[in-house]
Amino acid sequence: METILSITNLTKKYGSLTAVDNLSFTIEKGNVYGILGPNGSGKSTTLGMVLNVVNKTSGDFLWFDGRESTHEALKKVGAIIEHPNFYPYMTATQNLALVCKIKDIPAAKIEEKLKLVGLLDRKDSKFKTYSLGMKQRLAIASALLNDPEILILDEPTNGLDPQGIHQIREIIRKIASMGTTILLASHLLDEVEKVCSHVVIIRNGVKLYTGPVDGINASHGFFELRAKDTARL
Ligand code: ADP
Ligand code: MG
Repeated sequence: METILSITNLTKKYGSLTAVDNLSFTIEKGNVYGILGPNGSGKSTTLGMVLNVVNKTSGDFLWFDGRESTHEALKKVGAIIEHPNFYPYMTATQNLALVCKIKDIPAAKIEEKLKLVGLLDRKDSKFKTYSLGMKQRLAIASALLNDPEILILDEPTNGLDPQGIHQIREIIRKIASMGTTILLASHLLDEVEKVCSHVVIIRNGVKLYTGPVDGINASHGFFELRAKDTARL
């Protein structure tokens, strides 16, 4: 099995708060991983550290067995960790062409990626006319332009209506079926069960469980989360 990312005793402290506490887990190629935990449990901080946008306090992470520098390795990672942000008065195609230019990648893949996320028929519409779900799908297309080894998504269905949620989950499954490894942060057990094969459960930055989604049980404190999920629906 090929290891995409290994995390060892990764810790992040903000003053006296330990947001991520000695977290260790490994991501193997071809699987769909969830980082599952309630709001404030350290999911985004973990993603931020491995993407080099948050400075770690201690511990380590290694991309692709350390065959290259983190900077080089991150060129093979697609990530959406913020709200989709594109130029409102430019079309989807124009926005993606700009991304290609900035990242120095060929623009030839734009239509293929727009098709993958179901936006080909809206490729010439201005970004500002897109719904939140469409914006999120465009962000996914953008993150896939350079055919990354792994796609990282932070709460990709937050704020979407049921149809938008369904579309995003379907797209994630499709991307996974095409062989791209996925790491998805979510506070929804339901989402992780529907989309992921493996899960890392964290609470207050501490790992409660790592393993197949099938192995989640009540001892991982998830009845509480399930109840929360239900309350949201
Ligand atoms: P999640 O993504 O699981 O909701 P976060 O990683 O965003 O959790 O946050 C984990 C904890 O770290 C929370 O208690 C949050 O308030 C805190 N935190 C996150 N970012 C900062 C920051 N820049 N400064 C101080 N505290 C932070
Ligand atoms: Mg978060």
